[in-house]
Amino acid sequence: MKYDKIVIGAGSAGAVLASRLSEDSNCSVLLLEAGPDYPNFENLPFDLKHGWGTGPDIVVGGIHDWQFTGTASKFSENMPVPRGKVTGGTSAINGQVFLRPLPEDFERWVEWGNDRWSFKECLPYLLKIETDLDYGGDFHGQDGPILVKRHPLNSLTDDQLAFYEACKYLGYKENMDHNLPDATGVGPYPLNNPDGIRFSTALGYLSQSRHRLNLTIKPNCVTRKIVFDGNIATGVEVISGGEVFKVEGKEIILSAGSIATPQILMLSGVGSEELLSAFDISVISDLPGVGKNLRDHPTVHTTWKPHFSFNKPEQKIGPQKVALRYTSQDSKYQNDMIMIMRFSHEIGDVGALMISVGIYLAESVGRISLQSTDIHIQPILDYNLLSHKYDLKRLREGVRLADKIAEAPSFTDSIVARLSPDETTINNDDLLDQWMLENVLTMHHISGTCKMGPKCDEEAVVDQYGLVYGTKQLRIADASILPDCPRANTNVAAMLIGERIADFIKTSD
Ligand SMILES: Cc1cc2nc3c(=O)[nH]c(=O)nc-3n(C[C@H](O)[C@H](O)[C@H](O)COP(=O)(O)OP(=O)(O)OC[C@H]3O[C@@H](n4cnc5c(N)ncnc54)[C@H](O)[C@@H]3O)c2cc1C
Repeated sequence: MKYDKIVIGAGSAGAVLASRLSEDSNCSVLLLEAGPDYPNFENLPFDLKHGWGTGPDIVVGGIHDWQFTGTASKFSENMPVPRGKVTGGTSAINGQVFLRPLPEDFERWVEWGNDRWSFKECLPYLLKIETDLDYGGDFHGQDGPILVKRHPLNSLTDDQLAFYEACKYLGYKENMDHNLPDATGVGPYPLNNPDGIRFSTALGYLSQSRHRLNLTIKPNCVTRKIVFDGNIATGVEVISGGEVFKVEGKEIILSAGSIATPQILMLSGVGSEELLSAFDISVISDLPGVGKNLRDHPTVHTTWKPHFSFNKPEQKIGPQKVALRYTSQDSKYQNDMIMIMRFSHEIGDVGALMISVGIYLAESVGRISLQSTDIHIQPILDYNLLSHKYDLKRLREGVRLADKIAEAPSFTDSIVARLSPDETTINNDDLLDQWMLENVLTMHHISGTCKMGPKCDEEAVVDQYGLVYGTKQLRIADASILPDCPRANTNVAAMLIGERIADFIKTSD
């Protein structure tokens, strides 16, 4: 049997794409997923149904996590890199912050030669994804598959409330709807977790499409390479139950995420000729950009010892209910910084109040390369975070701003002393830089490792319709095609890519 479309990876983008493509009953779609599938809500494991995924000391773990590791900076130890391995992909294990890229992010993608990705053209697709249970109007969807809600201010934990008050005390704008185009300041995060249920793309999208006879969902199937006839993609090689199968498709779409998509491409002969020949892989298309342009949001956690009377939140890992988005001192890009408040039960005997400071628009760039031709051995993840001086400068400012926030009156009764970085470090640029380089972590938003762009861009891997350069009948639709990390957590951007590429495919067929 030859499928019309084979989608590899049922994650944030892949599940959306397969659902939209299968709306045409004449189009046969095969959706391949390496992890398990849970078709019935009643049997959905607790960690997927309710888990908040990201704690301050994040390690997701378990069978639904690929459990990769990566190097954050040349001064740091290996860090855990969780990724979802289940239908829904990383949307099934993530922190459920539902935040859109800024209009200015889209305008930058357009500037770089992707004119079909303007905010104006993408807005209808953003609306199509969501049902916003709090707000309506021009900028919010009302009947999309993913339900979105904010926690009311009176439900904030004591640390979150103190943070919210402190930000306002320091003059930051109160912002009740972070998904408005010009939103900035402090306010409740929109979350795709109404009533404590995580709305992954498996729950939102696949539950509404899996009944279709023209959509075949195959879990526990690891795609190890794309099969080519010349430079035409004709099928895929899949490992299932220890056996290898070849399956044919008229068009193949890689949606395996920012780590596995470049890995599968390279193993199939699409990548830098130099790297591929070092592994004896025959070259189908010499694309030096594959695995380059690794973009992410770097973050450091600053901590304080709580007063013995401080009312600690009960949940070990609870929702990220409130966030401050702000612009660093001399930045020309608004909202290039992010701060969130958490309580960590893991630190010391009594836990710690923790403000995580992150860069939403970082300059540093990392890369992914192969370490083996075996699909089961993860590629090398070199994040290279904070390698750019401007990133160090902004994060330094951010850490000092977090310190001011913690000194605000709303924290007086909660905080006893600063824990990390200590007094000497925070007041010395060089020491603080070193502390940041040793402690920096990923915010889990790895993007851009197969970026889209015009052909003249030597690092571009796909054009703006997701078509892989130098090949035919092969596209990519996942967060790897983002030219840069948007100034937002990346799940909405990945779902948008699923929606948008589905439409490009439908209109080109
Ligand atoms: C712990 C954590 C917390 C996060 N929190 C948030 C948050 O709160 N808000 C937010 O916006 N973003 C968050 N993110 C990021 C966001 O979830 C991701 O950017 C987004 O889900 C990526 O979507 P994707 O479609 O590119 O890849 P994925 O969703 O990762 O999908 C890739 C799919 O491909 C499958 N796959 C991989 N290799 C193969 C193979 N060889 N064969 C077959 N299938 C394969 C995977 O199993 C997976 O299902 C978080 C990420 C993590 C890890």
